Amino acid sequence: MKDHLIIATSGNGHVRIYAAFTAATVETARKIHDVWPTAIAALGRVLTATLITGVMSDNPYRLTVQIKGDGPLGMILAVSNRRGEVKGYLENPHVDLDLNPSGKLDVGAAIGSGTLTVIKDYGLKSPYYGVVPLQNGEVAMDFAYYFTKSEQTPSAVSLGVLVEPDGSVKIAGGLIIQIMPGATEEQIRTLEEKLNELPPLTTMLKSGMTPTDLINEVTGAMGAKILEEVALSYRCDCSRERFLGPLLSLGQGELDGIINEQGLVEVRCHFCNKRYHYRESELKSEQG
Ligand SMILES: [Zn+2]
Repeated sequence: MKDHLIIATSGNGHVRIYAAFTAATVETARKIHDVWPTAIAALGRVLTATLITGVMSDNPYRLTVQIKGDGPLGMILAVSNRRGEVKGYLENPHVDLDLNPSGKLDVGAAIGSGTLTVIKDYGLKSPYYGVVPLQNGEVAMDFAYYFTKSEQTPSAVSLGVLVEPDGSVKIAGGLIIQIMPGATEEQIRTLEEKLNELPPLTTMLKSGMTPTDLINEVTGAMGAKILEEVALSYRCDCSRERFLGPLLSLGQGELDGIINEQGLVEVRCHFCNKRYHYRESELKSEQG
């Protein structure tokens, strides 16, 4: 199954559902950054939630999610867009903790307590900022709290990354359910009961259920109307040109220092690990 997101509403239009399969995207991130099991569970959940949020928002130019926790992973950063592309990294990819008491990868302990920041850049002067305290560092509940508090949209969020014994990722995905204005107490209660009955997300995906199957399972008797399908992928949009501006802003004095020491200036992209080399002449002539 290729990575993709299905957006749907319940038949009555009062519930919106986003269901995503993201295994290849998360596996790509794992290979780029050599991420260990607990860390890839954390990064994979963040990438998945960032992808869905990026597509959900009304056409933002760029969506940035930053999780700053006091756990061993350090900062996690992910950037996505409306086209279903995401890139991301974490400060300390080599983190693998003991399983938590329920036998799951202990993402909450790896992230710790801190804040979740969402920045929506519409290409206008001032981007939209939303900051909420982390609820438990497990990412899903943290995003649910963000949607409910910061965007005033009551939401249930489920995120899952299944790490194989060899450390690779073959199953990953996310499910976000939002209550739209006009939903009745009765409808919300029925939905909550339904969600409580559902098996864990990774169990459903492992059994071969597709995002569309997940939506049908959630909506049940309410029925579902599919609105859109979006292909998802890991993609970095860095380039030589893009790094040149920030590089030149360092100032000629600092650049001269690096060139004298190393003969050239090397810049590494945090998102894809690609290295760019700039010769002295390039930096001089560009500056005019
Ligand atoms: Zn890059």
